[in-house]
Amino acid sequence: KGALTIVGCGLHPGQMTLETQSIIENSQKVLVVAPNALSIHHIQQLNKNVENLGRFYEGDVTRLETYRLMTARMVELVKQGYSICTVFYGHPGIFVLSTHQAFEILRNQGYEVKMLPGISADACLFSDLNIDPSTTGCQSYEATQFLLTQRSFDTSAALILWQIGLVGEHTLKVQSPGEYGLSAMTKLLTKHYPANHQVCLYEAPTLPGFAPRMDWLELTQLPQAEVKSISTLFIPACTDLIFAIERLTWLNLAEEDLS
Ligand code: SAM
Repeated sequence: KGALTIVGCGLHPGQMTLETQSIIENSQKVLVVAPNALSIHHIQQLNKNVENLGRFYEGDVTRLETYRLMTARMVELVKQGYSICTVFYGHPGIFVLSTHQAFEILRNQGYEVKMLPGISADACLFSDLNIDPSTTGCQSYEATQFLLTQRSFDTSAALILWQIGLVGEHTLKVQSPGEYGLSAMTKLLTKHYPANHQVCLYEAPTLPGFAPRMDWLELTQLPQAEVKSISTLFIPACTDLIFAIERLTWLNLAEEDLS
């Protein structure tokens, strides 16, 4: 009976875990969406039966259609009886629609499905920017969803905006921001953060040994900044943590007990 294991290869070949490597080596077929040719080459060295799902991005298709085709291919092979693994870059369950869809469809039909963690973009960001998300707390949103939906977010916690390089791109066909995306995002953020608040455009290296992009800029410079499909925006907290005094009393504590 077919089975699916969903794994992540990190953002470059050095970030693949030993467990993931072993799954790739022992699968009958390996489906891949990797960030660069070197990662694909690395995976091909582990298993000769590699199929590149990146082909579904080609042509005049929306990203949703691409994800639908990827899901369909995973489901098709498992139903044919293959024990396959699908390798996505980073963590295969973070901002990846098709893996979650295939997981649910196949699990509901009684197939064995498993997802392993991988090293994600935010994991790299925490290392390169020397940020511990526990210090202030950390919120994480998809940029366009954050822009276009009602949110009560917290300026005393850090904020990570994924897919800032696609913000406001509503056709889902282009790998760049919508015409007004970055200025609209700046307009929203400056309602909550000082105009000169320092934010970071972050890009982890996709090849080992290369330096990350860590461009700190004032919020108001964001509309002119160069963003790519792999850019992530990091916004540090701009306000202090304030104790919820009433809840301290629930524990019979005062502020002095915690400082
Ligand atoms: N599964 C991936 C992961 O675990 O990191 C995320 C895939 S999501 C479709 C693409 C978004 O992830 C980008 O728009 C960006 O926000 C972030 N991302 C991907 N590669 C990145 C990189 N090299 N550096 C920083 N962020 C990256």
